[in-house]
Amino acid sequence: MFKALVINKDDSGYQTALAEVTEDQLPEGDVQLDVLCSTLNYKDGLAITGKGPVVRRFPMVPGIDLVGRVTASESDEYKTGDLALLNGFGVGEVHWGGLAEKASLKSDWLIPLPEGISPQEAMSIGTAGYTAMLCVIALEKQGVTPDKGEILVTGANGGVGSFAISLLAKLGYTVVASTGRMEEEAYLKSLGAAEVMDRAQLSEPGKPFQKERWAGAVDSVGSHTLANVLASVRYGGAVAACGLAQGADLKATVMPFILRGVTLAGVDSVMRSKADRLEAWARLAELKDDRWFGGIAHEVALDEAIDAAHRLMAGEVRGRVVVNIGE
Ligand code: NDP
Repeated sequence: MFKALVINKDDSGYQTALAEVTEDQLPEGDVQLDVLCSTLNYKDGLAITGKGPVVRRFPMVPGIDLVGRVTASESDEYKTGDLALLNGFGVGEVHWGGLAEKASLKSDWLIPLPEGISPQEAMSIGTAGYTAMLCVIALEKQGVTPDKGEILVTGANGGVGSFAISLLAKLGYTVVASTGRMEEEAYLKSLGAAEVMDRAQLSEPGKPFQKERWAGAVDSVGSHTLANVLASVRYGGAVAACGLAQGADLKATVMPFILRGVTLAGVDSVMRSKADRLEAWARLAELKDDRWFGGIAHEVALDEAIDAAHRLMAGEVRGRVVVNIGE
């Protein structure tokens, strides 16, 4: 028997509880792991609280990220004792995830835990930090270099936003952070933001074509915010769009694309190739900063994860939540 958060949906409704399950209930996989730690992303918050249609099979163990120690493997790539990292691939949505003491996964989904990053550090970074890194790489691929001008980061106090600020600042970009929590201005500046603006300036419907300001942007918010950001990107700039914290809608015009050559680069982290994952995590290991662990992340135990997920969904959590599970 081992402990897991289990989500059930039946006639009595949607419930998530800490439960005891047996190893033969684990899904198929060619690698078996003892989970050392996991984390709470926005998507895990939606899954645990039932506030969004993330879970597509029941019963489900949530947790889209995990670091585990391999206990059995049919794959040539992993042997017993190896530390492996998982982000995404539908784990925690259609395949049992990381908020449990054990996991059974496909080796193709895993990468070795990068050199120089501990399990807790990897989970402090989690899908949020890994997605922020993918967004930064997307901007770099569009030629957005630090000398081009200011970069806007929306959803600044969130997991993706916090990491995007820190990564961009470390790479020498001038970062402007947009937030609904202006009281966190000092924290956002400590991460590397040069300026902090109230997200209210971006969250209402705006003109389709506005004064040029941003050389680039990392947007985890979508909706009117993304439309306003696109409308004020400078000639030849780019926006890496990865999220929908404000909404999935996008009421924009083609004007920024056809008159300013602006690029809207979509960023998905879930189904990324192994090569992209290895590149992003190698960059994260290179850019690693102690502030990510003391400042951005805090730790909870598995039996505190449901409560923490509710606080995350209520917008009461700053940065990242690491869930400590095993030794
Ligand atoms: P968090 O919950 O940690 O952060 C979201 C942030 O968005 C909040 O902290 C808040 O920042 C801002 N926000 C919330 N509601 C609104 C609103 N109504 N209007 C404007 N801003 C708002 O989530 P994550 O950082 O983990 O994820 C952010 C988004 O990115 C989510 O939509 C998530 O689903 C998506 N995502 C996508 C991935 C992909 O592969 N494409 C991977 C990871 C995440 P503040 O308080 O500073 O305003």
